[in-house]
Amino acid sequence: MNFPADLLSLLGRTSKLVAITGAGVSQESGLRTFRDAQTGLWAQYKPEDLASPEAFRRDPKLIWDWYAWRREAVKGVRPNAGHYALVDIEARIPEFTLITQNVDGLHRMAGSKNVLELHGNIQRVRCAECYTFTETWGDDTESVPQCSICSGLLRPDVVWFGEALPRDQLEAAVEAARTCELFFSIGTSGVVQPAASLAHAARNRGAVVVEINAEPTPLSSKANYVFHGKSGEILPRVVEAVWG
Ligand SMILES: [Zn+2]
Repeated sequence: MNFPADLLSLLGRTSKLVAITGAGVSQESGLRTFRDAQTGLWAQYKPEDLASPEAFRRDPKLIWDWYAWRREAVKGVRPNAGHYALVDIEARIPEFTLITQNVDGLHRMAGSKNVLELHGNIQRVRCAECYTFTETWGDDTESVPQCSICSGLLRPDVVWFGEALPRDQLEAAVEAARTCELFFSIGTSGVVQPAASLAHAARNRGAVVVEINAEPTPLSSKANYVFHGKSGEILPRVVEAVWG
């Protein structure tokens, strides 16, 4: 794959880059999407019926067990070459912000540091009442583990249907998008908000927008550069072409 010389030159001298990643990046690590992952005992449930505050109120143990099962699935998954290329890019650009819609924590596992997790992280657990984070808990009990401070039920620190995105992460993401010189949209359909509006905010403020995705998206016609394919193949080649 040949990359336009002006894009490579811009990458080599830019001081502020934002990248947003979506499900496509996790899928390349073999992680199945939300919907495709519903197998076995869980096949009878729709994710929408489990990932909500109402569902947790109705049957906290069911929801807790579902997330325990999903955490196990994530444990067998490793970051791919695309995750690691983003770590390389972070090391070379003065101001780099990685915004992700993925909850699997693979970017942090790969070594990315400045990561905004818009939808939370499935590996983190917090109290549903007082928000206190917990590092350890027992998964072998008959009931949902409780907060050691207020006895509230513990829940995954992810954004459920009907819940607002974490305000601090979202504000930081908007600010980064509005002030960057280069904006990479990677492995995201471009229709899920706020990913789509972040790309447009960057574009409207004069940033150069680059899309890397398996197939065309609504963003494609507005991006300055579009590459169709796997981020795990394209991103390492970009790094090699600019800094190799
Ligand atoms: Zn609590």
